Amino acid sequence: MVKRNQDIAKLQSSYLFAEIAKRKQEFLKENPDAQLISLGIGDTTQPIPDIITKAFIAEANKLNRSETYTGYEPSFGREEMRERIAEKMYNGAISPDEVFVSDGSKCDIGRLQILFGSNCTIGVQDPSYPAYVGSTVMTGKSGHTDKESGQYTGIRYLPCTPDNDFCPKAEDLQGVDVLYLCSPNNPTGQVFTKKQLEEYVSVARKHKIIIVYDTAYSAFIRDAKFPSSIYEIEGAKEVALETGSFSKFFGFTGVRLGWTVVPKALCFEDGTPVRDDWMKVMTTVYNAASNLAQAGGLAALTDEGMQAGKKLVDYYLHNVDTLREAVESTGLKCYGGVHAPYLWIDLDGQSSWEMFDKLLQEAHLVTTPGIGFGPSGEGFLRMSAFGTQEAIQEAARRITRLMQPA
Ligand code: PLP
Repeated sequence: MVKRNQDIAKLQSSYLFAEIAKRKQEFLKENPDAQLISLGIGDTTQPIPDIITKAFIAEANKLNRSETYTGYEPSFGREEMRERIAEKMYNGAISPDEVFVSDGSKCDIGRLQILFGSNCTIGVQDPSYPAYVGSTVMTGKSGHTDKESGQYTGIRYLPCTPDNDFCPKAEDLQGVDVLYLCSPNNPTGQVFTKKQLEEYVSVARKHKIIIVYDTAYSAFIRDAKFPSSIYEIEGAKEVALETGSFSKFFGFTGVRLGWTVVPKALCFEDGTPVRDDWMKVMTTVYNAASNLAQAGGLAALTDEGMQAGKKLVDYYLHNVDTLREAVESTGLKCYGGVHAPYLWIDLDGQSSWEMFDKLLQEAHLVTTPGIGFGPSGEGFLRMSAFGTQEAIQEAARRITRLMQPA
């Protein structure tokens, strides 16, 4: 018999989403006619712009003729794709051969764990996107969960709360080898200022920390005072890699396309460029992004495609405004939701699950309890603005009705 991988055994099965699904099913069993609205999902609902879907179709039409058929794509992405990401997403601040095109940011987050091996200490914002902690545990970089705190031992959780402006202190990073930062943040919607990021880059340089910077939601930033990329900070290329995604910008959640930038200047302790090892990882456990996805991605990264993507993001930004106004009208304080599709609601002493149940039972809304993103998420609730405008407007009406100020 094969022994179970104890690192995977350690990982608590996705309690959050399983529990949400269970409570939703129980509710629907008792209320089969209820019109539930989901504010829980991080998935997009709006169609991909025509300019991009036309490129998918043109590419598909090449695949059914022997004269135009092509097989495997170049391992790190089409040359033109790497060039266009460097130009459109980084204004040429990084070079195309530092861009590694992939099947999405989450997949890269998983593969990055292979790159770092099991012998390093990971630091995460608390709360954070669950994939950082999950992939850390699975690859043997943590102990078991501590019953009291709910945290995995060996992982450094950096509390992000209103008290510290959702920005953990740079001096708390001592002992961290790899630090995951996400801005705009999922779930808090918080965006780092240039000054805050400068501080992180400076501390990372001092303590030789590698930052993994996740920009899955950077298209939602509409004010140049907030950096869209960590490479806007001087010296960041020596300490940070960055992962990006087409998912939320162009509706590619199902198409799958993303990238990771690994600058040539980023090195391990022994002087080996991280990029050399990343190329080994990518050529060993990955076989390039799909030809259809890349054809669409190339169309997305034209002036017309970027304009269409911006309109798509505007739609969700309008939704988040609607939700924010509704929540604020109830007297509850909320964060994020300006340069991000997520609202992070302070429940004023109520627990995450209490408010989840109240909204489900009394307003027929499905949300996400903050505790599911880490211990510091207790007492908060995440609402997502990725629904249709009609659904969001109806949700806003229900929130206003239900959560009147006392
Ligand atoms: N990073 C964050 C913070 C996310 O919230 C998500 C998806 O929800 C991803 C990465 C995954 O992006 P992709 O669809 O490119 O895998």
